[in-house]
Amino acid sequence: MLGLMQNRPLLISGLIAHAERHHGDGEIVSRRVEGDIHRYQWRDVARRSRQVANALDAMNLLFSDRVATLAWNGYRHLELYFGVSGSGRVLHTINPRLHPEQIAWIANHAEDQVLCFDMTFLPLVQAVHAKCSTIKQYVALCEADKLPQDSGIPNLVSYESWIGGQSPEYEWPAFDENSASSMCYTSGTTGNPKAALYSHRSTILHAYAAALPDVMGLSARDAVLPVVPMFHVNAWGIPYSAALTGCKLVFPGPALDGKSVYELVEAEQVTYAAGVPTVWQMLLGHLKPNGLRFSSLKRTVIGGSACPPAMIDAFREDYGVEVLHAWGMTEMSPLGTLCTLKNKHLTMSPEDQMKIRLKQGRAIYGVDLKIVGDAGEELPWDGKTFGDLYVKGPWVVREYFKGEGGDPLVNGWFPTGDVATIDPDGYMQITDRSKDVIKSGGEWISSIDIENIAMAHPAVQMAACVGMRHPKWDERPVVAVVKRPGMEVTREELLKFYEGKIAKWQIPDDVVFVETIPLGATGKMLKTRLREQLKDYKLPTA
Ligand code: AMP
Repeated sequence: MLGLMQNRPLLISGLIAHAERHHGDGEIVSRRVEGDIHRYQWRDVARRSRQVANALDAMNLLFSDRVATLAWNGYRHLELYFGVSGSGRVLHTINPRLHPEQIAWIANHAEDQVLCFDMTFLPLVQAVHAKCSTIKQYVALCEADKLPQDSGIPNLVSYESWIGGQSPEYEWPAFDENSASSMCYTSGTTGNPKAALYSHRSTILHAYAAALPDVMGLSARDAVLPVVPMFHVNAWGIPYSAALTGCKLVFPGPALDGKSVYELVEAEQVTYAAGVPTVWQMLLGHLKPNGLRFSSLKRTVIGGSACPPAMIDAFREDYGVEVLHAWGMTEMSPLGTLCTLKNKHLTMSPEDQMKIRLKQGRAIYGVDLKIVGDAGEELPWDGKTFGDLYVKGPWVVREYFKGEGGDPLVNGWFPTGDVATIDPDGYMQITDRSKDVIKSGGEWISSIDIENIAMAHPAVQMAACVGMRHPKWDERPVVAVVKRPGMEVTREELLKFYEGKIAKWQIPDDVVFVETIPLGATGKMLKTRLREQLKDYKLPTA
């Protein structure tokens, strides 16, 4: 016997329709690329996202066609979130920090039809457009009079003229909730970037879960500042959870330095913020010497990299702000765990509570976790035994876009590439990473790419790249190099050799010359051994 409740598909258009009808006067405030502050309301987001949908229809874009963005966090990007996905197309948010070659590769792989970009990225689009073979419309996110006349970019319109002539009336189509809604490429894997392809259903379920009290705990009374970029796993799903709860949204645009973020928090009375440790480092670095306090900020969710204990302390003790340590990944939409205490922890000493707060947290309903050993056996939840962390759930990838990399699952579980412990209360703690990538300031660097470039140098026999702890960037790459017998190369020459081959921020901070690189039985480089060997090494940049 089937239940007799209405079977309405879970669609992203439903979120914006809800926000308009029930929170129409809720504010959206954005610092624009132009530097000024723009403010309007949820009802305006809804109206203009319908104009976006009409503009896409006018181009005869098909269902599931990809519309890409290269944009900061701002109101126009928000309208694209709802207009593109709501009308049945797929929003492809591109990370502008990637190397231009990689951006072109990604746009072609996704077969993007339209690219909408902030004017900050005009030079980037000028550099890549000739290589992007599928894009037929470029849209600059600006007013008509700001559009450059001689950009050399074909079929370029301003966003305001693109949607300006369109009707604000639009009937959101109903379709299967399992249809694709948005996609995000991750370079946190080996090989070419791979895309997680989210569905309407996975996005809505994630938005519900994210808003729960022990997760992000968002409400209509919050003013939320997502510093985490909208090009990085949909700003952790905050735009969707915001429409669902009707909270106020505050967008920082391109100004992510401590002073600009602080001023926005105060001016807009932000109660809740979200970002990677690096941006909070910059914020704390601005507060302390200037003797500043927060007048409204209550909670901040920190994830993407491990949150240092000193940061949790500083926010709590010095500024009265609760830190919610979160873990997740692009392949998980992204939330997997969040660290909030249970009732029994409340009577513990602050030191014991801190030991829990440092962990990445416990599973959100919808995500299941396990740790496994080398033979695939499940390991105990004793808080000590560590193993490969596997996850499953309705907002975890089943397969990458176009089947890249083959079937990623192991008996229905997704291996995260993280190594973790789980304690008897279900709190997970990341202890290491088994994937061959380094995370710097929340962005990925492939150690394999770094090694391959070094090995292309005639004087290099072997190279191994490892991530080293860095106080600001969390990790920075260092490359250990064995020179070819009889050949010479200096650190400076090798660092120069990287220029132009990868993005500047991906170039290693240092080269360490070694006699040998430790190898395992199968000839694979033993990075764990190398890290041990370099344990007293100090980064020149730290
Ligand atoms: P991404 O797909 O770029 O969001 O990166 C996901 C990866 O970032 C995870 O697999 C972890 O390696 C790392 N990560 C995310 N959050 C945390 C955290 N709170 N602590 C430690 N590592 C994290």
